[in-house]
Amino acid sequence: MAKPYKLVGREFQPENTHIHVGDAVFGNGSFPVIAGPCAVESEKQVLSIAKSVKDAGATVFRGGAFKPRTSPYSFQGLGKKGLLFLAKVREETGLPIATEVMDIETFDLVEEYADLIQIGSRNMQNFSLLKRAGNSDKPILLKRGMAATLSEWLMAAEYILEQGNTRIILCERGIRTFVRHSRNTLDLSVVTAAKQESHLPVIVDPSHAAGVRDQVISLAYASAAMGADGLMIEVHNHPEDALSDGAQSLYPDQFFTAMEKINAIHAIISKK
Ligand code: PEP
Ligand code: MN
Repeated sequence: MAKPYKLVGREFQPENTHIHVGDAVFGNGSFPVIAGPCAVESEKQVLSIAKSVKDAGATVFRGGAFKPRTSPYSFQGLGKKGLLFLAKVREETGLPIATEVMDIETFDLVEEYADLIQIGSRNMQNFSLLKRAGNSDKPILLKRGMAATLSEWLMAAEYILEQGNTRIILCERGIRTFVRHSRNTLDLSVVTAAKQESHLPVIVDPSHAAGVRDQVISLAYASAAMGADGLMIEVHNHPEDALSDGAQSLYPDQFFTAMEKINAIHAIISKK
């Protein structure tokens, strides 16, 4: 039976889609890692973290300028100023920038600065936003909704593809379950399932799945072992003072050490 997602499915395109973001390639068997803070807080903060994560081997820098926060009283992001700081990071380090777009109103602005436009979990089924993303000439990082089935996630990607943008990276970031020992539950098996169903690259964000630093590294190793196409990891130079997601942010030296093992695991499992 034909799948409801025509364009994202393997039936439509059997071979993997490769997506270039700066020097990073997603979906070609390499293992690019996107790293950086949850939110852009200052120029100094992003430059410091960017230097650390680049030294550790990350090839895309992340940081939110527009932040979707549960509470309206929490830090909402620096907006355009944050995007300017991200542009400075790109200029100084050469790293391409991944940053989230929250709505249609700010899409043009985010699109101007981002090398990879993130659509967050909370917006996975914001269909007008998905259509706008489908008309962008920038690649899209589509996070899985926190209660979305694989089929709903792929249909969300279909909205983007159907409008003509073929450059979509899927990102598993944990789903809501009954457990209390972690923020979400990382659905590792969806990596295999999504890659069987779709030709799009599938990466994993263990940070938002875990919610606590101590679980992030082992989930990152497991994601590499699952054959994911890369990772997105939150790293902060002073996590205890972070304006968002400090508890799940790795210290730069932790990230550095983890990257050595991540690369070793990827090398083992990609051996022919
Ligand atoms: C984020 O990447 O900072 C973020 C808000 O992610 P998610 O949409 O997965 O919660
Ligand atoms: Mn975050």
